[in-house]
Amino acid sequence: MKRALVVEDNEQGMYLLSFILTKGGYEIIEATTGEAGIELAVKEKPDLILMDIWLPGIDGLEATKRIRKSESDGEIPIIAITSHAMSGDRERALAAGCTGYIEKPINPETFLSEIEKCLRKTRTVSAGQCDPQRGTGRQE
Ligand code: MN
Repeated sequence: MKRALVVEDNEQGMYLLSFILTKGGYEIIEATTGEAGIELAVKEKPDLILMDIWLPGIDGLEATKRIRKSESDGEIPIIAITSHAMSGDRERALAAGCTGYIEKPINPETFLSEIEKCLRKTRTVSAGQCDPQRGTGRQE
């Protein structure tokens, strides 16, 4: 079974992400801080990481950088959960080493396919090029 590490400090956000990913066949590992996320990423080597950007303590960008630094064998796909209102979040997420990003608010109808699109692109295109929402014509 594929395992997804979800790093999210918001309780409702965590519930929603876990619910969607469980439905998508993932086993969920939860972390509510960047520090715990790094520890679990290193220890558990999940197949996928969903990383909220805004966290107490170190933020999702710093956590991503540290996870990237710790990796020796291949890259775990890290998808940032960015807020639409915060301009610059996407660019900063990719610069920090995220594989791609998905904007809040999370749309349960499309979330899994956005992840798949992101994972598919990273296998064929170089990491950091994934932009799952560009060109989909989705209205916010
Ligand atoms: Mn948050």
